[in-house]
Amino acid sequence: MYENIVLIAGAGPAGLTLAIDLARRGVAIRVIDAASTPFAGSRGKGIQPRTLDVFDDLGVIDAILAGGGLYPRMRYHFGPFSLPGKPMAPTRPATASTPYPNPWMVPQARTEAILRERLKALGGVVEFGTALVSFSQNDRGVEASLSTGEVVRAAYLVGADGGRSAVRKALGLKLSGETIDERLRMVADLEVDGLDRAYWHIWPIANGGMILLCPLAKTDLFQYVSAAKAAEKGIEAHVRAATGHTVTRIAWSSTYQPSARMVDRYRVGRVFLAGDAAHVHPPTGGQGLNTSVQDSYNLGWKLAHVMRGGPDALLDTYEEERLPVAASVLGLSKQLYVTRSRKRGDATNQLSLNYRTSSLSSGAPYGSLHPGDRMPDAQLEDGGRLFDRLRGPHATELVMPDGIRILIRPDGYIARIGTSPVGEYAGAPTHRVAAPALRR
Ligand SMILES: Cc1cc2nc3c(=O)[nH]c(=O)nc-3n(C[C@H](O)[C@H](O)[C@H](O)COP(=O)(O)OP(=O)(O)OC[C@H]3O[C@@H](n4cnc5c(N)ncnc54)[C@H](O)[C@@H]3O)c2cc1C
Repeated sequence: MYENIVLIAGAGPAGLTLAIDLARRGVAIRVIDAASTPFAGSRGKGIQPRTLDVFDDLGVIDAILAGGGLYPRMRYHFGPFSLPGKPMAPTRPATASTPYPNPWMVPQARTEAILRERLKALGGVVEFGTALVSFSQNDRGVEASLSTGEVVRAAYLVGADGGRSAVRKALGLKLSGETIDERLRMVADLEVDGLDRAYWHIWPIANGGMILLCPLAKTDLFQYVSAAKAAEKGIEAHVRAATGHTVTRIAWSSTYQPSARMVDRYRVGRVFLAGDAAHVHPPTGGQGLNTSVQDSYNLGWKLAHVMRGGPDALLDTYEEERLPVAASVLGLSKQLYVTRSRKRGDATNQLSLNYRTSSLSSGAPYGSLHPGDRMPDAQLEDGGRLFDRLRGPHATELVMPDGIRILIRPDGYIARIGTSPVGEYAGAPTHRVAAPALRR
């Protein structure tokens, strides 16, 4: 017998987002993570505007905003001289359509802690120290063996188990692409004596190679990034020799190899991949965590609908929609890495990522609204915000004064623009927002 549950392997940003989205839809889940304790590092610290929209919908935006800050300006150091750099992107004011216009810096461990808290409030828990070891599947379910010796029989398995994904390997899927820098990189969270926290400091021609020290919002720490070879004699020695500053504490450290790789399938039967398990990015442009969160946000409502008897073909649209996004985002982060470009903004904020060519998108454009695009926020005539009406697991139908109806998917993308009314979408009644007379 297979239980009507989703087994999620991996409780990083991708696994936690999926767990929250399924839990709030009343879908039974098990969330396991191989690590014995939660991830402790700052790694993916840049949260893009589109992910902030998602976090608004998932009910964690206040904690995310309280736990982070804007990116600081860069400051370049050359021996005794230093000069401020241009901001990577201008800080923009919030508008009616884009409530979160700027990337927001939150150390990854804090983002994960906030997501775990939200999951807990929904009755979910992460089972740490529990790795997925192997699995088999048939047309009724998945049988998974865990490191604890337990065997779980679930309806679906989602491999959100990171770049070295055991699920991906067991499926025989290849991460195709390239290593874009042969030099191993080091990343660490450091306390540094006397270094100005108003700037993201860069020593481009430091002894042993470039050093970056970025002050992590709402902490005493800097995120250090450098070539691992330069830190052969220790991070403390490297920072002292190159910058003249003293490291007083190393809170966390790790290495990574800048690569741009992805799979060519996101689904094999009842098993799905999400996040770094499916695509590995260089850190430039801050795309990896964001793409991972949005994979899960795309999969959650579809999986919930199919678990309740919806058509299985809906699950094929996960790969149809997310694979091209991963390919384009990978191309962008690779280009930014290779060209050393520090230009950010519209290209990296992920607001214009869309599903225009998806089989789920239909109808004709209406003004600036296009089937497949992110539905922008808007001020409503009653003074409320459209995003407040979208928040939650339902779909929404906007009925415009001229009778045109706009169907918004549970994940905030425009599914359809037309004239016929929609009773329900993805198994749930649609909420109707009548004649909103959107002020744009
Ligand atoms: C230096 C650096 C800077 C970065 N900066 C950014 C940034 O600014 N913005 C951004 O968007 N991204 C950034 N990234 C990328 C980001 O960190 C990743 O894309 C993100 O962590 C992916 O999330 P995930 O949930 O898919 O995988 P992970 O975070 O890797 O989580 C996978 C989880 O699965 C668990 N696991 C592994 N194997 C198993 C198993 N067999 N069974 C059960 N559990 C398992 C692991 O313990 C882990 O908790 C950066 C990366 C680096 C290295």
